[in-house]
Amino acid sequence: MHIGFIGLGNMGAPMAANLAAAGHEVTGFDVVAAPPEGVSRAATATEAAASAEIVITMLPNGAILRQVAEEILPAMAEGTILVDCSTVEVQAARDVAAMAEARGIGFLDAPVSGGVGGAAAGTLTFMVGGTDAAFERVKTLFDIMGQKAVHCGPAGNGQAAKICNNMILGVTMIATCEAFALADKLGLSRQAMFDVVSTSSGYSWTMNAYCPAPGIGPKSPADNDYKPGFAADLMLKDLRLSQAAAEAADADTPMGQAAMKLYETFVEAEDGKGRDFSAMLPRFEKRGRG
Ligand code: NAD
Repeated sequence: MHIGFIGLGNMGAPMAANLAAAGHEVTGFDVVAAPPEGVSRAATATEAAASAEIVITMLPNGAILRQVAEEILPAMAEGTILVDCSTVEVQAARDVAAMAEARGIGFLDAPVSGGVGGAAAGTLTFMVGGTDAAFERVKTLFDIMGQKAVHCGPAGNGQAAKICNNMILGVTMIATCEAFALADKLGLSRQAMFDVVSTSSGYSWTMNAYCPAPGIGPKSPADNDYKPGFAADLMLKDLRLSQAAAEAADADTPMGQAAMKLYETFVEAEDGKGRDFSAMLPRFEKRGRG
């Protein structure tokens, strides 16, 4: 297949490289980054999109997605498909889907879970919104870049699934970290805490697979001085998206709101910027109730 790939950053570059390694002809464009091995370089986004059957975008945010979509959709042929794998507002995904549809172009929102490691290993999970027909056509590409693609319903539903998942993740990470910090103050060893909780009703992905306490549980960013991993800044981005969506849908999300506020303080006023989102544990460790 001829594939255009726009946005060759931490996630996009390894995803594009995996498609090229699987034998697809991939033409890439990024305003800064150079294409990875096997991916040819286009001079503009339009050039990357013009001869492609499928165009994939992996961009920082919804405003940039809208801008890129406005630029490339007029150059894409009818019957082709635009697949956005970035994490953006549900509404941005729905608006771009409508812009594409008006031109006879398919659109899928297909945000991912799995991070840079998953992108490199081809083990991402895709949460996909859009038509059945478009999903079926792109499925083979999801299978190369990931281990699972879940079709969540019409356009925007992939983004809805992503922000709901990450709202749970942010809230759970904070709960796990504050519980470790409390356990410390109660004189419970971290190993005992892990051994109990990881096999009791408080277990979670954050405790069992991504434990925020160094030296406890499987290897995680905590064992690498909290280098990301999944940066606190990106968690804040996703929590903000979840709260914007909750506001638009009139949904009551007090825990999501509290998690967003905490990550906001951590990233903007403390030392959280550029650290893994599990570095909430050393933050709580240093604090009392006041
Ligand atoms: P990144 O900043 O490394 O990559 C984004 C790339 O887009 C950059 O190389 C940038 O130069 C490029 N870009 C910006 N504007 C552009 C334009 N107009 N045209 C072409 N290229 C442009 O970010 P990333 O970590 O690769 O994340 C990409 C998306 O994936 C984000 O929406 C992020 O929220 C989401 N995501 C990231 C992770 C992660 O762990 N990094 C995990 C899941 C989802």
